[in-house]
Amino acid sequence: MSQNDVLFERAQKTIPGGVNSPVRAFRQVGGTPRFVTKAKGPYFWDADNKRYIDLIMSWGPMIVGHANPEVVEAVQRAAETSFSYGAPTEGEIELAERICALMPSVEQVRMVSSGTEATMSALRLARGYTGRDLIIKFEGCYHGHADSLLVKAGSGLLTFADSTQNAPSSGGVPQDLVKHTLVLPYNDVEAIEAVFKKQGDQIAAVIIEPIAGNMNLIQPSKAFLSAIRNLTSQYGSVLIYDEVMTGFRVALGGAQSLQGIVPDLTCLGKVMGGGMPMAAFGGKKEIMSKLAPLGNVYQAGTLSGNPVAVAAGLKTLEIISREGFYECLTGQTEKLMSGLKQAADKSGIPFEVDSIGGMFGFYFADTVPNSYEAVTKTNIEAFKKFFHLMLEQGVYLAPSAYEAGFTSIAHDTEVLAAIIAAADKSFAQL
Ligand code: PMP
Repeated sequence: MSQNDVLFERAQKTIPGGVNSPVRAFRQVGGTPRFVTKAKGPYFWDADNKRYIDLIMSWGPMIVGHANPEVVEAVQRAAETSFSYGAPTEGEIELAERICALMPSVEQVRMVSSGTEATMSALRLARGYTGRDLIIKFEGCYHGHADSLLVKAGSGLLTFADSTQNAPSSGGVPQDLVKHTLVLPYNDVEAIEAVFKKQGDQIAAVIIEPIAGNMNLIQPSKAFLSAIRNLTSQYGSVLIYDEVMTGFRVALGGAQSLQGIVPDLTCLGKVMGGGMPMAAFGGKKEIMSKLAPLGNVYQAGTLSGNPVAVAAGLKTLEIISREGFYECLTGQTEKLMSGLKQAADKSGIPFEVDSIGGMFGFYFADTVPNSYEAVTKTNIEAFKKFFHLMLEQGVYLAPSAYEAGFTSIAHDTEVLAAIIAAADKSFAQL
């Protein structure tokens, strides 16, 4: 019995399913989750002291590599002066100023501790600001686990999905609550036009992953994004860009900087905390000023703007702002994807790839999918086999075909070559 098996058995006694977040349990791919003991750069080590190349990077945050010495130093220095005050600090102002400078659509920003809190609070704010109840989300987009967003949600919910249209994707979510959530197909311009025509004046907000990463990686069409921006402006609805995953990952200015769209509110998380529990939502001052203590929309947090998390976030944002960072990250990720594609072609496996900045997707399919429906038709059985073949060779992919993958600046040429060599062997055995 491996040490991972021993730990998994023990974990299941006191933690439901043995994990603190469902996808970690390996349910889609089967087998035993790896229990991590340490990580450095592009690698982590499991309880059996086996080394893996990490292609999840904590689901996005670790863009400068695990245990980056500069971030470690910043965190250590912050920790020496205590971990939390529940009172404001100058570091929070610096972080807010940096975010506003990097993302011009964000005029003011409020810090929270998780992406879920960011999207949940942004929605409440949008509803408070507009005085409307209805929200629109898209199939396969995951925006954290707030009640009204658990309808046709991606990520773990897509992995375990048995939901039907407009039924909650989770137990414990009242039907009465999700009736305020309209779910539309991603990339479907006609559908959103039709809904706005019918009830645009009742829609508080449209929330979207501007590059979807919770149903594998799916990119939006230009026409889809401009339709959403135009309709929300026309009807006075709030456009919420959920950049918890894409913010500072696909580009320094997030997906919005690549797409030329100016959202009303933006949700951030993951990279902005450098791996610490830290997230934020921000946007137009006019909307943000409806938040307590200025306005009547309540939102708060004991650990919000935590000084140790702020230190990690500030240092991470400083590193990624350096000249050439994204060119390098993007180049490395593209190199990885073309290597995987070539390896699959060699073995005659139907396989497609996509990437943007340090975020990637690969699909056991003939074409790159552009919707939730299309992604569920990819070959999941082939993915499962590939996952385990790669894992055996020390490459750690997301344990689900419905998740994007993530690289870091530490995934250098040598690391990429090792991944591609492992893929070459794996495809040959499929
Ligand atoms: N929004 C998006 C787009 C996400 O990818 C995630 C998490 N994967 C969340 C929100 C929720 O963030 P958290 O897990 O920090 O609550």
